[in-house]
Amino acid sequence: MKPECMIIRMGELTLKGRNRKRFERSVMIQIKKVFASYPSIRYIPEYGRVYVELEGAPYEDTLKDLKRIFGLSSISPAYLAPLELKSIQETALSMMQGLPKPPKTFKVSVKRVNKSFPYDSQEMNRLVGGYVLQGMPGLTVDVHQPDIELRLELREERALLFAEVIEGAGGYPQGTNGKALLLLSGGIDSPVAGWLAMRKGVELEAVHFHSYPFTSERAKEKVIDLARQLASYTDSIKLHLVPFTDVQTAIHGVYKDNLLVTLIRRAMYRIAEKIADQNGAEALVTGESLGQVASQTLPSMNAIGRVVSLPILQPLIMMDKQEIISIAETIGTFAISILPYEDCCTLFLPPSPSTNPNLRMVEKIEDSMSFLPELIEQAVQQTETIRVVFGAKKEAAEQHLF
Ligand code: ATP
Ligand code: MG
Repeated sequence: MKPECMIIRMGELTLKGRNRKRFERSVMIQIKKVFASYPSIRYIPEYGRVYVELEGAPYEDTLKDLKRIFGLSSISPAYLAPLELKSIQETALSMMQGLPKPPKTFKVSVKRVNKSFPYDSQEMNRLVGGYVLQGMPGLTVDVHQPDIELRLELREERALLFAEVIEGAGGYPQGTNGKALLLLSGGIDSPVAGWLAMRKGVELEAVHFHSYPFTSERAKEKVIDLARQLASYTDSIKLHLVPFTDVQTAIHGVYKDNLLVTLIRRAMYRIAEKIADQNGAEALVTGESLGQVASQTLPSMNAIGRVVSLPILQPLIMMDKQEIISIAETIGTFAISILPYEDCCTLFLPPSPSTNPNLRMVEKIEDSMSFLPELIEQAVQQTETIRVVFGAKKEAAEQHLF
């Protein structure tokens, strides 16, 4: 039995009083995109949810896309029956028999909107529950903690039944929480950080630092592939590619010791902030996770983060690597991230990077590098910006903007 309807529930956004209308509008745009090739779809919006009558649109395919929409808390396949006892009972039984994971316990909840229906909620509960129990030996009723809640809504014209509740992506609808600039490396962490920011409704642009020819064209391709995977959640992402070779080699030319990573990171952040300002981004997003490497201790993060005044969002900061990897797998970035191409930050690594950089010392070294501001400015000027589009063919996908 194929679902004839879907109940799509909006998540946290229902809590945000004044913004609700705007959020619902934004989420509806995304939902309608999923069903764009099925014009006979019917939408019935209600508070915090929308009923979609599928009218022949494929359930599995559209579900896959709906699960990627931020701002949706859950989705239920639903079935329709005429307002007539026998049909309702039969629909309830086939729906229960068709559940992907057979339940051991269940309960029935009835909502009777149509007051002219001959049986009241209590009676319907018993009549439908009893019928299902008869048809599914081994199933029992548990009113407190059932595996499955069979819900029956007796509406004005028809009965609506559903039981399965499929988790949605959660968060806030696309672009409803401002814009930020993601520092996107080729690693596992930063794409996950970006996705978590997007899930909170943050519109993302991304910046990547490459050190061509020390890093290869393939390394850059890998980052474009990661950006494309992230773009699958929004349509497209603007990616700024910063030529970082001159900055890195110039710093390395005069200083090679344990504060090198701190110095290079500070230069990176300075460039990122300028690009953020030029593009109206109000925060930076990075993939640090506390304690993971030398530059991710609190003293390091303090010494690095001070060079910018924009907020630095670090969604992974308190997560364990395994948790990060599991999100990376779910969102489809892991397989790309583990490809072997080198990152610019692994170049020129000092033998023992400081885990406790002295800020005064760092600033003193920087003061002696009079060439630095100009090289930073130059890197910003020479940044190449492309728009990475999801879905389009690879060659056609990257549209050069500058
Ligand atoms: P990731 O897995 O994201 O590469 P990491 O664990 O390797 O992170 P670091 O190398 O310390 O950690 O980088 C910390 C953060 O700095 C990254 O998550 C990313 O946001 C940013 N970053 C590092 N290298 C680059 C780069 N080449 N271009 C843009 N951002 C970078
Ligand atoms: Mg890395």
